[in-house]
Amino acid sequence: MRLSKSFVKTLRSAPKDEIAKNGVLLSRAGYIHKEIAGVYDYLPLGLRVIENIKGIIREELNALGCEEVSMTALQNPEPWEKTGRFSDAEVDIWFKTEVASGGTLGLAPTHEEPMIEMLKSYVSSYKDLPLYVYQFQTKFRNELRAKSGIMRGREFLMKDLYSFHTTEEDLDAFYAEAEKAYARIFDRLGLGDSTYETFASGGIFAKFSHEYQTLLDVGEDTIYYNADKSLVFNKEVFNDEVLAEFGAKKEDFTEAKAAEVGNIFKLKFKYTEPLGLKYTDDSNETKTVYMGCYGIGVSRVMGVIAEKFADDKGLVWPEAVAPFKYYLVGIGSEGVLKAEELYKGRENEILFDDRDARPGEKFADAELLGIPYRVVVSDKTLAEGKAEVVSRATGETKMVDLNTLFV
Ligand code: ATP
Ligand code: MG
Repeated sequence: MRLSKSFVKTLRSAPKDEIAKNGVLLSRAGYIHKEIAGVYDYLPLGLRVIENIKGIIREELNALGCEEVSMTALQNPEPWEKTGRFSDAEVDIWFKTEVASGGTLGLAPTHEEPMIEMLKSYVSSYKDLPLYVYQFQTKFRNELRAKSGIMRGREFLMKDLYSFHTTEEDLDAFYAEAEKAYARIFDRLGLGDSTYETFASGGIFAKFSHEYQTLLDVGEDTIYYNADKSLVFNKEVFNDEVLAEFGAKKEDFTEAKAAEVGNIFKLKFKYTEPLGLKYTDDSNETKTVYMGCYGIGVSRVMGVIAEKFADDKGLVWPEAVAPFKYYLVGIGSEGVLKAEELYKGRENEILFDDRDARPGEKFADAELLGIPYRVVVSDKTLAEGKAEVVSRATGETKMVDLNTLFV
């Protein structure tokens, strides 16, 4: 991508009501554009980060045999009425809209109900199960506060996976596989060391659900972890009764702020029963399908990564999610020509700063944008047949032979 050809420009200041660091930096660097509180556009660079996060999640879920779909945002109230979740008293974050010909539709805050309703057309026998279906989809939630940049949107992107089983053992086994996949996903996203699987309240059927909590000073949640971080609890379940079950004591735990980047749940019959998702077993008996659900806040993950790794000069992307690996600058007449040559055929790896601007301005933007490696070719480096490569994360500078530059 050539910066000279992009409509996006870096900005000196963020929208005046933007207070969260991730929102400020992502706006200034031209990754997102704020429409209203909690509602953001994703610009070319921001979209590439989102697509990279999705790519990692997709690879890990497909490896578990999950199937990807894309369901609608507009919701028929009927299935939601059957589970009691269309009522504003029950779920207080609905956006609802009137239909011209009469009646109300909702904008999906999550997708358990329509997913089950859809599968009723395809599941009838034990031979149809298990099933693992997921999507990346925009969710709408009328959140009371939306002051955390893209970490809490009123419109946001979620990956939601739903699993369906004939037995509790099969649900348990898949849940364990999903836990392992989540660990791999957060590792690959660069959040492995700071993201903990956390015990959370589990509703009526399962004792606990699990949240994935990333340590973050400005996180909205509070977690408690023990010395080797093998036991982590959220605030809801951090009490003497629960701790006693694990043979632990309050004094053994450290309190920390964190952001919830994912959440997994054994729903069992919670929604499949009221919606009547049933199958016949091998002796022709009709039974209710077991269900699990597994969410990741894709846009929140982007905000958390931005927030967590940024320094006083700007964003710092882990390589796996960075929109481009290299930020290329040519200086001097020979340098500019060489940069053009290097860029050719690598449009997908290189963000080429070919703007008519001073090197100082380009270097400052390279830092603000947080691309992992800044590559500079100048008349001086070319005299040695080399380019200067600076790591954004560590500041380490190397002179690299032009022939081995992008290997
Ligand atoms: P929170 O407690 O932060 O409101 P939640 O428990 O309501 O989260 P879920 O319904 O489990 O969240 O949604 C799955 C995931 O979607 C969450 O783990 C989180 O990462 C993300 N998420 C939830 N609400 C938002 C939001 N308003 N903006 C961005 N991401 C969100
Ligand atoms: Mg919520």
